[in-house]
Amino acid sequence: MTQGRLRLDDPVTCVRGIGEAKALQLERLNVRTVEDLVYFFPRRYEDRRQVVPLAALVPGGPPQAFRARVVSVENRVTRTRKLNLIRVCLSDGNSVVWALWFNRWNLKNLFKTGVELALYGSLEPGRPSPELLNPEFEILDSGDPKSVGRIVPVYPLTAGLNEKWLRRVIESALDETTEEFPEVLPPSVVEKYGFIDAAAAVREMHRPGDEETFKAARRRLVYEEFFLLQAGLALRRKSAGDEKKAVPLTGAPDLVARFRERLPFELTDDQKRVSEEISADMRGTSPMNRLLQGDVGSGKTVVAVLALLQALDSGVQAALMAPTAVLATQHAVNLRRWLEPLGVEVALLTGGLTPGERKKIYAGLADGTIRLAVGTHALIQEAVRFKRLGLAVIDEQHRFGVLQRKALNSKAGDDLPHTLVMTATPIPRTLALSVYGDLAVSTIRALPAQRQPIRSVWIGENRLPRMMDFLDREMEAGRQVYWVCPLIEESENFDAAPLEYRYEKLRERFIGRRVAMLHGRMNDKEKTAVMSAFAAGEIDMLASTTVIEVGVDVPNASAIVIEGAERFGLSQLHQLRGRVGRGPYKSWCILYSEPKNSEAEHRLDQFCSLSDGFAIAEADMRLRGPGEFCGVKQHGLTDFRVADLIRDGAVMEAARRDAFAAIAEGDARNRYPLLMQAVLNRYGQMLDIAQTA
Ligand code: ADP
Ligand code: MG
Repeated sequence: MTQGRLRLDDPVTCVRGIGEAKALQLERLNVRTVEDLVYFFPRRYEDRRQVVPLAALVPGGPPQAFRARVVSVENRVTRTRKLNLIRVCLSDGNSVVWALWFNRWNLKNLFKTGVELALYGSLEPGRPSPELLNPEFEILDSGDPKSVGRIVPVYPLTAGLNEKWLRRVIESALDETTEEFPEVLPPSVVEKYGFIDAAAAVREMHRPGDEETFKAARRRLVYEEFFLLQAGLALRRKSAGDEKKAVPLTGAPDLVARFRERLPFELTDDQKRVSEEISADMRGTSPMNRLLQGDVGSGKTVVAVLALLQALDSGVQAALMAPTAVLATQHAVNLRRWLEPLGVEVALLTGGLTPGERKKIYAGLADGTIRLAVGTHALIQEAVRFKRLGLAVIDEQHRFGVLQRKALNSKAGDDLPHTLVMTATPIPRTLALSVYGDLAVSTIRALPAQRQPIRSVWIGENRLPRMMDFLDREMEAGRQVYWVCPLIEESENFDAAPLEYRYEKLRERFIGRRVAMLHGRMNDKEKTAVMSAFAAGEIDMLASTTVIEVGVDVPNASAIVIEGAERFGLSQLHQLRGRVGRGPYKSWCILYSEPKNSEAEHRLDQFCSLSDGFAIAEADMRLRGPGEFCGVKQHGLTDFRVADLIRDGAVMEAARRDAFAAIAEGDARNRYPLLMQAVLNRYGQMLDIAQTA
């Protein structure tokens, strides 16, 4: 064996046994270099340390490791040659057992009488006698068996690759990378936690020895992954703070004070606290970069308005961005109602304007006559210029990408605007720290006091008529109702009712009630018209797709029916549920669903029993994985090799503290060159920090 032949940045084709074809398949697992390969860790392990005699195999028992010799081989091919059966009699000197392999044409030549095998498999109860079906085997010649007598790694696979082959090439890559794995962690950190070195940790992951060493290895690698990400985020935060300044918004609180006086309710303690956090940030010269998270209905809009008014009080422009035209329009309507009495005009910029209207708004933003603008992403279009944008509030962050936030920053000229990002999908802390790690976070936990709890139930087809009667009574009492259908491509699946079909049914059932329909294919004007009519109480029942999911606020609505609820994620259901219970009326969320399996039933039960958005977000993240959970998969920030955001939350917190401290020391490039190299390799592009470091 030629030791030390491989370098970590060599392509995988340098590893013995990997040709061009296999390299292509590995690429599908994101494995391109030797480093990728040795960091490609097992999905799980099989404990095959105990090698048992054949007599110990029990039919229907768990898989076992054992050794045996080939006594005889029978080979049968079915007439159509579709099926090839190899039946082998095995003996360990004391007992015999039969093993059966399907369609493994080459085995006939390998299994000569007398050949010794190491095997791993379980005995299927069968007739006339129990047999081993397709057991894993290794032909023993000289040397110790690799597949039994130890803990064996099981790797995640892709088509065309098999476990045995992967184990072999990873072993070979490990044997031939004697080059030191660079120590990227600062020495102080390695010492503080007593970490084992990276090379030992990586080897331990593939060839685990005892439990304690394995845990130590995993701990080190998890910490390292989190540390690299957090160091990247720290660099990003530093660059955001160092490069450009923001205008400190320190004007006397005139509009702010008058707005608060006129509010028909008292702010909750949480609202007061987060407002103070935001206000303090905005008085500073480094640009605010804050995430405001609060469950649906927790009253984030008022907090946003206070921030917007602080900007106006300080003589700069302010903007509020929403993900949809419906939502932007609703914000504009609310803001006008609140602010016009204070003499503040609100401009609304969406995609639906005429060229003339748009031009007028562009001009007003550029010359500063428009002080407060509300809009969709139309606000960050190429042609938009602000005279002096001091604050941008972005509602419902999970619909906006990191890049759009940057585009907004570039609108502001020399000074950066302060930014406040609001989200109604409470992000579990570990995820917030990884994806939004460069943001400061403010959280509203308590809902306004007089809020009615929402009763949630799920029902099947059989209770549909009773539910219809119930909805009728609600509307009779003057309340309004949402009916949400899942979005379905006509061709995909016919068993769930598309919206149009449901809409017709509802109109037939509720003759005399005003039933309307809302969906994403309508244009902005139509959508806004329907939503305004619903908000004004001119529509009793709104059949809709999930376009109403975010932010829509109609306090008179007291029931929401979610059809095909099993198709929605928990967080999405929670968003939809948040459309009701926003006023003084007792409210209902009815999941109308025929779940196909007990897992789906369990999910619906879980949803009905949970009312706290944070608990739901945690449950959702567990069920769907962090990437899917808030559409951050494409960022790649949560694609860890070993670390698990849910299991390893505490490690994330520690790594974050340490990484931010290390970067804050300054001069990281000279102090920690290997760390900086690793951070840039991994996150330079994703976090846009290549220039900074
Ligand atoms: P979200 O956080 O989901 O955006 P909103 O800002 O839309 O919530 O607020 C939901 C409703 O609660 C609105 O009708 C709002 O006027 C009302 N609200 C906000 N704060 C309070 C409060 N402190 N007391 C009573 N009602 C409030
Ligand atoms: Mg909102």
